[in-house]
Amino acid sequence: MLSYQHIYHAGNPADVQKHALLAWMLDYLTRKDKPLSYIETHAGRGLYQLDAPEAVKTGEAEQGITKVLADQGLAVDHPLHRALTEIREQHGSAAYPGSPLIAASLLRPGDSLQFAELHPQENTALRDALKPWKAKVHQQDGFELAMSLAPPAPRRGLLLIDPSYEIKSDYARIPGIIGQLHKKWNVGVIALWYPILKDGSHKQMLKALETQGLPDALRHEVSFPPVREGHRMMGSGMFVVNAPYGAAEEAARISALFDAVSRK
Ligand code: SAM
Repeated sequence: MLSYQHIYHAGNPADVQKHALLAWMLDYLTRKDKPLSYIETHAGRGLYQLDAPEAVKTGEAEQGITKVLADQGLAVDHPLHRALTEIREQHGSAAYPGSPLIAASLLRPGDSLQFAELHPQENTALRDALKPWKAKVHQQDGFELAMSLAPPAPRRGLLLIDPSYEIKSDYARIPGIIGQLHKKWNVGVIALWYPILKDGSHKQMLKALETQGLPDALRHEVSFPPVREGHRMMGSGMFVVNAPYGAAEEAARISALFDAVSRK
């Protein structure tokens, strides 16, 4: 039984880190004319309203995207800013795009988009949000979907793995899954998001990922104050295999953005 709903967390600092790096990588990949594949294992509903009762209840976006925009921390030509502007033009000033809509907004008509979302209501909402684009939405386990699609056509592309880590065994399973996916799809950019919790749950997973010697691996982590009292998340991370040229510099810019915002 899945209980996680991203609406409670949409636009929080962890989303800003993940979405800024994701948007930058997708934008970079579109600089070549060749079409690409974008796959997501854990897609969520794709479109959030930050004035919805669930988002207001936690107030997490206030510490994330709302603060970053108020501080003008994200350049207006940053791909995340561009995607956010497009989605707000279509869905109102409180809208926040999840990763599927960020990808749909930045990619081109010839690119392939495939998403897995297991939760029935989130899946229906995602199909609805993606109607303006040609995208395939699957209601199946995202790891199974990724395994069945790798290597996708076109072969160039990016896979985002963004679990909610409700199932604690995910931490132990993920390094093996990423290793297998890389074997099947050696040119694919594989990006994994993970939370940095007080109990250090992510540490073993990162150790197992880093000992595999995956090519052009990038580990980027940011820390931030708890978004509300008692919240266990102290930061977030992205681990990227076949990180595109320049991704490390973009990751450093994102770290600088977090440092600047936390000083204010
Ligand atoms: N990637 C989204 C974004 O950044 O906008 C957020 C995704 S949220 C962290 C994780 C989502 O994965 C939830 O909507 C949950 O229902 C879904 N989910 C959980 N387990 C899944 C699985 N095994 N396969 C596919 N989706 C799953």
